[in-house]
Amino acid sequence: MTEGVTERCWFCDTRPADGDPYEVHLHGEVQRTSEPRVHAYMSTTRLTWRKETVLVPRCSLCEKAQQRIGVAVGLYIVLAVVGLFAMVGGLALADRLAPDSPWGALSPILTLGLVIVGFVWLHRRSKAIVREFGMVRDTSDVAQYGRAKQLLDAGWALGEEPPG
Ligand SMILES: [Zn+2]
Repeated sequence: MTEGVTERCWFCDTRPADGDPYEVHLHGEVQRTSEPRVHAYMSTTRLTWRKETVLVPRCSLCEKAQQRIGVAVGLYIVLAVVGLFAMVGGLALADRLAPDSPWGALSPILTLGLVIVGFVWLHRRSKAIVREFGMVRDTSDVAQYGRAKQLLDAGWALGEEPPG
């Protein structure tokens, strides 16, 4: 980094980028090359690609905000998975203890309701964090960031390697 030059955080567009940059992994120029062998049916396909990590300047406050959102997302996923397991367990238990109880019909509805309520909570929590930290852009907007956009426009894709 050049001393004396303070880059601005891309996410809030106000504070100096004094945090760890946000990393965007991209890959492109995927090439499939067939290498015929002795037997035609044994030809192998070789996949090669290039990758690049784009560093998006970020301030320490936006970094903190994004970590908080990450924690909220993680918490939601854990609770949703636990909820689904509890539902399946509850159903099996209800079936054994009281086959005629209404629990069997109610629990999927209750679980689904909680999953939706949780999702609304997650959405509002993220919005509140974004507002609290004065962010004008989110990590989901990084495709618009200069170098990332340039590569995506050139046919590159997000992620470290091509799928499959
Ligand atoms: Zn910032």
